[in-house]
Amino acid sequence: MHELGIVFHIADSVENIARENGVSKVLSVTLEIGEVSTVIGDYLIDCWNWNAKKSEILNGCELIIETVKAVTHCDDCGQQYETVAHGKICPYCGSDHTWLLVGNEVSIKEICVEDAEAEGRGEDTKDAEAKGRDEDTEEVTVEATREAAEEITAD
Ligand SMILES: [Zn+2]
Repeated sequence: MHELGIVFHIADSVENIARENGVSKVLSVTLEIGEVSTVIGDYLIDCWNWNAKKSEILNGCELIIETVKAVTHCDDCGQQYETVAHGKICPYCGSDHTWLLVGNEVSIKEICVEDAEAEGRGEDTKDAEAKGRDEDTEEVTVEATREAAEEITAD
């Protein structure tokens, strides 16, 4: 149930960000998932869809997953290489004094919300909600911190 924990964590973060920005509806969330993380994207989306229904802010919100290439750093020669292709052994010098630089994290890349301006006109403005759906969709980019990303993968 690793994925479910991640979904709860992401949902909490997104809801907090939405509230802080006066947003009542999140349309989509883009996640970056490291190539060598143990997270199963399809299962994550299933969990997300199930969980989103329970939240007013997230109901109908789409989860988009982007894969981030894993890169390993070699301490002996200082080179970086693709983890998936070469594993723990450096292809440049044959050393195994290597460590994963990126590729094991889950982070929020982007949160797409309905037009935040509609908010100022009253929370129950139904037509504003409908209008916001197409062209007026505002994109909020969220920089997920390294610590937050690690916290997610820690369990
Ligand atoms: Zn090396």
